[in-house]
Amino acid sequence: MTTPPTDVRRAQLTEGLGAVRARIAEACRSAGRDPAEVGLTVVTKYFPASDVALLAELGVRDVGENKHQEAADKRPAVAQLRGADDLRWHFIGGLQSNKTAAVARWADVVESVDRTKLVSRLATGAAERDAPLDVLVQVSLDAPGAQGRAGADPDDVPALTAAIAGAESLRLRGVMGVAPLGEDPAGAFTRLAEVAEAVRRDHPGATWVSAGMSGDLEQAVAAGATHVRVGSAVLGPRPVIK
Ligand SMILES: *Cc1c(COP(=O)(O)O)cnc(C)c1O
Repeated sequence: MTTPPTDVRRAQLTEGLGAVRARIAEACRSAGRDPAEVGLTVVTKYFPASDVALLAELGVRDVGENKHQEAADKRPAVAQLRGADDLRWHFIGGLQSNKTAAVARWADVVESVDRTKLVSRLATGAAERDAPLDVLVQVSLDAPGAQGRAGADPDDVPALTAAIAGAESLRLRGVMGVAPLGEDPAGAFTRLAEVAEAVRRDHPGATWVSAGMSGDLEQAVAAGATHVRVGSAVLGPRPVIK
């Protein structure tokens, strides 16, 4: 991808961000919710550090990345461009066991914990931090037995949340889900809301529900999402992976 001049890119991102914020506001209005209840995480995977710096300038506070090495390199590059790093970096990708402790060193929120084995590795990495690492459990929203995307089976969520809550260096914040392709996202997000409610019964502080992307943020807001993760609707189509 050839990088457009900064002024052009700033204008593109301003427009994309404005459109997405308007969609969130409208979805909240339809659902009778206060827009202040819904946070926007802009998914910057595959886009350069210069875009993240522009987004921060435009008021974005949360960004999402799905590859450990890309994000571990991008975060210091953004800090250098801005002279500061006041962003909250979310890891939303599949966690490989051998990289999990390293993710805990740069991320502020890890949204994709889906098996108990990862918890002690994450806790070890997070033990070097000043403050506990915020963690979400990724819940599979696929039909049982479907050859699916990542995520814990809803039946396995109580054991997983208990393990996270028991780790001193981790702070259980809630759940995350991705609607399966080829299904009405409203049904998937309703199932996620039910899992989230069960989690809150055991862990009242775990109030976050991260759901909804460029194509389905309205359905996620209607089902009670507290955070939406939006990439292409803000940044444009993702560059081809190198
Ligand atoms: C890439 C990604 C997103 C953003 O997707 P868009 O369709 O570009 O908004 C959200 N969540 C996860 C887990 C992702 O991997």
